[in-house]
Amino acid sequence: MAEEYPYNGRLSRWDEVAEGLAIVGVQALEDPFEFAAGQYATLGLLGPQGKLVQRPMSISSPPDDLSEYEFFIRLVHIGAFTPLLWKRKVGDPINIKGAKGKFLIQDDGRKCLFVASGTGLAPFISMIETMRRHGDTRQVILLHGVSYAYDLAWREQLSEIEAGDEFPLRYVATVSRPNESPGWAGETGRVEKIVAAQMDNFGLNADDTTVYLCGNPDMITAVDEIATERGFPPEQIRKELYWPKGREHR
Ligand SMILES: Cc1cc2nc3c(=O)[nH]c(=O)nc-3n(C[C@H](O)[C@H](O)[C@H](O)COP(=O)(O)OP(=O)(O)OC[C@H]3O[C@@H](n4cnc5c(N)ncnc54)[C@H](O)[C@@H]3O)c2cc1C
Repeated sequence: MAEEYPYNGRLSRWDEVAEGLAIVGVQALEDPFEFAAGQYATLGLLGPQGKLVQRPMSISSPPDDLSEYEFFIRLVHIGAFTPLLWKRKVGDPINIKGAKGKFLIQDDGRKCLFVASGTGLAPFISMIETMRRHGDTRQVILLHGVSYAYDLAWREQLSEIEAGDEFPLRYVATVSRPNESPGWAGETGRVEKIVAAQMDNFGLNADDTTVYLCGNPDMITAVDEIATERGFPPEQIRKELYWPKGREHR
């Protein structure tokens, strides 16, 4: 049976980062919901059977701006939701519900090691902007792993923050397919492969650091093991898995 008209928002922005990868804005048409940096919203579109297809998406914008919720989304060709989204255009209606999730900056005064694979960068963008706006000057080390250099969304902005003296960010990007990323001179390999060396490089340990992991489940399992071996207790290894282990499609 078809759902009643379910739309309470509109697509307000579509910035194509690369083919099948976009920064997407959604405006709430009714009262916007509040959220905390790191939380996700549920986006929904009517599918072919007239049913609302809904998926959780981390919010990349900061919580003190509710004029537009921003997301960083990859098209999964065999998926149910993202192929519907890729057929929409700016101005089209969409369903948005929020907010949920416990992937939050811990109020523990420790340095933050943020490790993101692919679109797992989204909640960290919200967190970094929030910390910046609120004058939270804990050191943040952000490691972002992607397949191709052109998938490195926010690279320029993050490099600018790192180069400035306003916020203590260290930003390390790594590319797993350097041969297909002309001109790439940075780290290579999957992000989980550079974590141990970067922990040593920045002198991060369980006494002074909390680790935050977001994105694909294999990365999260691998870094969880590295951090656990180094004595990080479970409460200092925060995790947001984007899909269940053992299922990956492009
Ligand atoms: C808390 C939470 C936050 C999320 N935030 C984001 C986000 O910010 N951006 C985002 O793009 N996705 C995010 N996701 C994943 C998102 O909910 C969808 O699963 C994804 O967008 C694919 O939706 P789909 O319906 O097209 O495919 P689905 O039918 O959901 O998935 C099809 C298959 O692809 C796998 N899959 C899902 N996502 C990916 C991916 N990115 N790369 C490779 N394989 C994948 C799934 O395991 C599944 O087997 C989040 C998931 C969770 C649980």
